[in-house]
Amino acid sequence: MSPAPCRFCKSVRGEIVLDTGLQPACDDFPPVDQVEVEAVHPVQLWLCADCGLAQLVEDPTEPDEPRGVEPLALVRQAEAAVAGVAAAGLLPAGGTVVEHGSPHGGSWLGLLADRGIRETTGPADVVLDCFGLMHDADTREALERRVAELAPDGVLLVQFHSLEAVLAMGQWNAVRHGHPVYLSTPAMTGMLAGVGLTVVHAWRFDLYGGTVLLAARRSGIPDASVAELTAREVAAGVLDPAVVRRLDAEARTSAVSLRGWLETAKAEGHRIVGYSAASRAVPLLNVAGVGPDLMEAIGDASTAKHGRRIPGVRIPIVDPVALLSEGPLDVVLFVPDLLDEVRDRFPQVERAGGRWVLFEPEPRVALRKETH
Ligand SMILES: [Zn+2]
Repeated sequence: MSPAPCRFCKSVRGEIVLDTGLQPACDDFPPVDQVEVEAVHPVQLWLCADCGLAQLVEDPTEPDEPRGVEPLALVRQAEAAVAGVAAAGLLPAGGTVVEHGSPHGGSWLGLLADRGIRETTGPADVVLDCFGLMHDADTREALERRVAELAPDGVLLVQFHSLEAVLAMGQWNAVRHGHPVYLSTPAMTGMLAGVGLTVVHAWRFDLYGGTVLLAARRSGIPDASVAELTAREVAAGVLDPAVVRRLDAEARTSAVSLRGWLETAKAEGHRIVGYSAASRAVPLLNVAGVGPDLMEAIGDASTAKHGRRIPGVRIPIVDPVALLSEGPLDVVLFVPDLLDEVRDRFPQVERAGGRWVLFEPEPRVALRKETH
């Protein structure tokens, strides 16, 4: 099959670097008692040889995820990011903003309003894309739309989970339906140039293992932060298919190790549950073949997901308060950024002799903090 043209530059030159097989849509959590079997579609990541955009070959799913509860780590990072942008002099007093958000939450509008920046329908002094672009199937069209909303002297802020973090932390299960593109600083800088914008400043945050924020304008001189972050990501191999392809082997290795870890824990008499029915849990559990026989249920703070199940492997999603009081339990945490927060919120887990288990990319028990 010849690949579809690149979602940004329309090139057909490139290669498939990750193939996790047939997967259900991971933004669609069916009711727990639904008889109908979920449809599956191939998940194949393709790296464009011309513009460097990593993208799904096909993504037939419609984004339909119940909006999740925002992790505190996301809220804190937004505060730090807005402060950084303000410190760089890129938030004009009394200015306007258009926001392209994410179905996963994380709006900055409240933080910007606190700084006197009000929402408009455009053209805006600030066009903000906070984890939005990764959900757009046509990257060029999506970027052109954002540029069209930008006032002549405006700034486009684009924040994304970097492919560099996916590679560095073996986050192969970040690659999933509903997220058609995987962005990096060098690819993003090139694509922004292609729609007439220059990246003038870049920030990197630890959220999700590596989150990048770029500020771009119609004219301007990039400062040293842009070259530094670009060099870091190029060195990490974000444009190199041979490097990105390592994810493919890591997917298999880590799925086997998760399954093996759970089987051992179960054989030792542990009861295992999960926390956070995040979309990234779906490919992980499906590739590993982990169903309710190994993981009884998954707690999630979002009531919209209760009474539903993980597509494919059919693990029920339930209210975490009741679930985590049943201890002792091994609780696999699918969103590592939540660790401090859930540990404080559910002290009964460790009090009952249970354990928080992190998985990125290998399972490990999160050791108790020395003080606390
Ligand atoms: Zn391309």
